[in-house]
Amino acid sequence: MMFKPQSAEFRTIGGQSLKVHLVSTGAVTVKTKFRDASTTGLLAKIAFMLDRKYTGWLPIWVMIIEHPEGIFVIDTGENSNISDRDYFNFASPMVKWFNTTQYKFTVEREEEIDRQLQPLRIPVEKISSVILTHLHLDHVDGLRHFTNTPVLVNKAEWEKPFGDLPQLYPPGFKPHLVELNEQYEMFDKAFYITNAKDIVLVETPGHTWHHCSVIIKTERSHILFGADVCYDQQQVIDKKYSGANASHKLAKDTYAKLRTYCWDNPVIFIPSHEAAAADRLRESRYIKVKSAPRG
Ligand SMILES: [Zn+2]
Repeated sequence: MMFKPQSAEFRTIGGQSLKVHLVSTGAVTVKTKFRDASTTGLLAKIAFMLDRKYTGWLPIWVMIIEHPEGIFVIDTGENSNISDRDYFNFASPMVKWFNTTQYKFTVEREEEIDRQLQPLRIPVEKISSVILTHLHLDHVDGLRHFTNTPVLVNKAEWEKPFGDLPQLYPPGFKPHLVELNEQYEMFDKAFYITNAKDIVLVETPGHTWHHCSVIIKTERSHILFGADVCYDQQQVIDKKYSGANASHKLAKDTYAKLRTYCWDNPVIFIPSHEAAAADRLRESRYIKVKSAPRG
């Protein structure tokens, strides 16, 4: 196992215990210019397709939250069949080529989410819901292990997905679609997952049209699972972007909101594919944006 699981205990605002676990369902490597683009749009796509270099192995984090109101699983990670020769046989040659050359995975069976819940002593039946940040394969390919668990998806993301592969969903997959029609601070599309309003799904678009992040407000800190908003938090600080966004304009707007939110609050920032996020969770280290975005 390349990336060790990490757990940390916090207190809710009401003083109860709250545990957060990060487990990596294998690892992924992407073209270096897929991760760090110097252009946008079509030019960025051409640049990473021509790129011959790959990044080092990156984690595929799934976050598990043990909250007084229930156990919540954020994203489901990848599964070990991803390296089967015929995994993308349903797709067109172009889609198959893209998904097997622009990024590569290594996932062992014991790294899948169901196996990694065992040492945490969390039976799947005890999980209140799975919450998906978006519909990309490395976030949904573990859904097969949650056949009887409610799965929450932003209705807008479901209706206008970007780069998803529905053929990989479990047969009969029917998520519970939630409308993000509440306001949370500067996020005008939000949905409260808990009655205590301390776990909130917020729309952070750009990577996909309606990509989401999950924010947990604890007694002292805010834990922000940013999913694929960026590859690492430094990109948000430095205003650097990946090469594969649905909309660069939305990505810029999301970065600005995140910088403001992280200026205003003590935020432990956790992107899906940043190894260092595990240490930050353990040590409660906050992201430091350079200056007050509002000036
Ligand atoms: Zn993604």
